[in-house]
Amino acid sequence: MAKKQFKTESKRILDLMINSIYTHKEIFLREIISNASDAIDKRCYVALTEGAEGFDRTDFKIRVEIDKERRTITVSDNGIGMTREELEENLGTIAKSGSLSFKENLSKDEKDEKEIDIIGQFGVGFYSAFMVAEKVTVTTKSIKSDEAFVWESTGVDGYTIRDCVKDEVGTTIVMYIKPNTEDEVYDEFLRPYRIKGIIKKYSDYVRYPIVMPEEKTVEGTEAKYYEDETINSMVPIWQRNKSDVTDEDCAAFYKETFYDINDPVKVIRINAEGSLNYKAMLFIPSKAPMTYYTKEYQKGLALYTSSVMIMERCEELLPEHFRFVKGVVDSDNLSLNISREILQHDRQLKQIANNLEKKIKSELKKLLLNEREKYEGFFTEFGLQLKYGVVSDYGVHKDTLTDLLLYYSSFAEKMVTLEEYVSSMPESQQYIYYARGESIAKINSLPQTEAVKEKGYGILYLTDDVDEFVVNILGTFMEKEFKNINDKDLGLESDEEKAEAEKKEEENKPILDFVKEALGEEVEFVRLSHKLKSHPVCLASEGEITLEMEKYFKSLPGEKENAIKARRVLELNGDHRAFEALKKAFEEDKEKAVKLCKILYTEALLIADMPIENAVEFAQLVSELM
Ligand code: ADP
Repeated sequence: MAKKQFKTESKRILDLMINSIYTHKEIFLREIISNASDAIDKRCYVALTEGAEGFDRTDFKIRVEIDKERRTITVSDNGIGMTREELEENLGTIAKSGSLSFKENLSKDEKDEKEIDIIGQFGVGFYSAFMVAEKVTVTTKSIKSDEAFVWESTGVDGYTIRDCVKDEVGTTIVMYIKPNTEDEVYDEFLRPYRIKGIIKKYSDYVRYPIVMPEEKTVEGTEAKYYEDETINSMVPIWQRNKSDVTDEDCAAFYKETFYDINDPVKVIRINAEGSLNYKAMLFIPSKAPMTYYTKEYQKGLALYTSSVMIMERCEELLPEHFRFVKGVVDSDNLSLNISREILQHDRQLKQIANNLEKKIKSELKKLLLNEREKYEGFFTEFGLQLKYGVVSDYGVHKDTLTDLLLYYSSFAEKMVTLEEYVSSMPESQQYIYYARGESIAKINSLPQTEAVKEKGYGILYLTDDVDEFVVNILGTFMEKEFKNINDKDLGLESDEEKAEAEKKEEENKPILDFVKEALGEEVEFVRLSHKLKSHPVCLASEGEITLEMEKYFKSLPGEKENAIKARRVLELNGDHRAFEALKKAFEEDKEKAVKLCKILYTEALLIADMPIENAVEFAQLVSELM
């Protein structure tokens, strides 16, 4: 029979498995058993939704048998089985699901050591059998078909599939254990005691009985017989008493189930009793997956009812703003043969989702208050998600999310909550000041921050595109208005100072008008600044659209030319030498004055990180005046 070749990436993984020097080879059994358990889940699901006659969940089991003479371990299940096409698809190519991140890591072509680490962290699935077996056969019959097939492979040189006879629906996997070598002992996997230990260690929570034949003696005689012994306790981790499960157990379950190599930042356990009965184990990851902020990422929690999985990813259980949460919800209230469509409108499900949202919120708040460093780590990864949450749906979620936000404060010189900012405001301060820029360093050097800082007031530095929208949606916080430091009136001056400034503005009107005329349509206004101290100019804006929003709109695909523009305002520092020079030129040499206007405006653009139209002209003008 012609051998079929594995797909390239499968070959690569197989190669890795066969030649693995990984010390925890024992995990192969966990992988094979978890596939068996998934297959039974699928069969249960089909039976429940189609209302199969005489269906009994207790009929399901996973059987593990050892044959020392033949050197085989056999794992059989009465799950859903596979059709010929599924065999090809599933075992001829590397599976899409969990192995994906593994694949990404592999393509970097890293050293063996790194790869070994990955084997330990992730389930690498079916192929891990080749860490201990020189040959593997898979005999299977699908619930959808009357035919049965045997898939067989000795490793990288490919696999064969042939017809066979099999009475029961399900799958039987036979692993032919490798002979011992000088460095490796494989015999240990043929000892029942060792295999039982491995099952207990990794597969104790599997919801179906994992049985092994146990040799018994008929009392009072020498006659032997075998009886099935169930090895696992079958209680899923989320169903167990809190006191019986350690943090490490939860973290291990999380990493294995959700394919993360990092411990979660927080495990949330819920045991709700009353009108709604459910248990939940939720995880807040410590790192955002690479695909997190893309369409590829899918939110949702696994949904079980009475320990049967009915949905791997139930989206309705999580609000968008907490879509980073992973976990499991198990409720006895949901009807067993509920269909996915009905589920979406289920009232109880909605209620559970509401409770979960509240709980997630309160746990995040606790983390923020009690374990600040951890929270900041979380916020670096998922803060952007919370901000999107504030602005989405016209701000209806803002009450839930606002107190979870952190911004850098120039006064505290660290990340603070809005509440911390407001409660440390001096009495004289009326506004919550904020400045928008690309980075903390860039904002920190903006000339217009000077006056606010000099007053001893803090400024919140907004470094994300969405931040200005957040501020707009919030409007106020603890009755304090937000104030962009680009605004004309920052409320820093006394009435006298204001009158003084107005007088000065009036006196300088001719020259300000001249500057406006020289710059034409580029700017909406030119005015004397109230906030500049050591710098000669800065750029501000008037109206709803700020300079930063303009930059953001310009960055959107296809928007470069048509993007909405901010109404630009040029502010000049009336006390600066540059202004004196401009004044002098205005009186004596108008041509030179026009050039100075252009230089000052370009300087303002540069400081504001805005594109300049004509860099060459600017360079020429500067050189000319030197
Ligand atoms: P993963 O479990 O991460 O999807 P595997 O390589 O372990 O990857 O398995 C590939 C696929 O083969 C599974 O997704 C499943 O569809 C199928 N499969 C494996 N073992 C069984 C089994 N015992 N019964 C039915 N299908 C199975």
